[in-house]
Amino acid sequence: MKILVAVKRVIDYSVRVRLKPDRAGVVTDGVKMSLNPFDEIALEEALRIRERGEATEVVVVTVGPPEVQTQLRSALAMGADRAIHVAAQDPIEPLSVAHILHALVLEIAPGLVMLGKQAIDDDLGQTGPMLAALWGRPQATFVSKLTLMDSKARAVREVDHGLETLELDLPAVITTDLRLNTPRFIKMPDIMKARQKPIDTRPLASFGLDLPKLTIERLEPPPERTAGIRVETVAELLTHLHERGIL
Ligand code: AMP
Repeated sequence: MKILVAVKRVIDYSVRVRLKPDRAGVVTDGVKMSLNPFDEIALEEALRIRERGEATEVVVVTVGPPEVQTQLRSALAMGADRAIHVAAQDPIEPLSVAHILHALVLEIAPGLVMLGKQAIDDDLGQTGPMLAALWGRPQATFVSKLTLMDSKARAVREVDHGLETLELDLPAVITTDLRLNTPRFIKMPDIMKARQKPIDTRPLASFGLDLPKLTIERLEPPPERTAGIRVETVAELLTHLHERGIL
């Protein structure tokens, strides 16, 4: 069984995001970029499945500009067998990524497709469910435990009221939550080895897809937080809350 893992290059979680002056996007020049943390978890899980002998190959794919190859090299250094880079200009919306992944799924015929539950740039969480719908296969989102049994998978999902366990027929789509695993550290020899692994770069046009185009008109920063005030008594607190229409 092959596992396809979709990985996205995002602004590193530790960076304070700033808007461009024209508010058409966020500043990425000179900003530290990383693999989306949930995608590292998806890749780690795929590697563990392969290491247990339950999969034969882990293929990583990303859709984005030439710079994404840096993150693909990190994924190869973590242990992916090969990588596919679909060359496309940012921003690319989830439905387009889902269509591209669907085309690759039909070509590669994986038993599992693993994605992050969301990319931390837009926090959309749409790509996995959209892929499952296009492919017509089962999905489990927000997965915190995954077990494979022959042609089925058992997935434990984190939901508002606790944990939900689903049994899915393979092939299926899995999106990963934070508690699924802790991704491994990349060691120097693995970085050297990754240089020899293949990256198959394909122009977006080669897929012959008529992709939707979402236009981002404007981004707004969140309102600045104003300084708080100290109150001496509960009565004073209640007065303030009444004055602000909160109570
Ligand atoms: P999103 O729906 O944008 O929150 O992304 C959810 C997941 O879809 C991510 O964690 C990735 O696994 C995958 N994904 C989103 N965008 C891309 C992309 N451009 N290339 C590859 N995978 C992507």
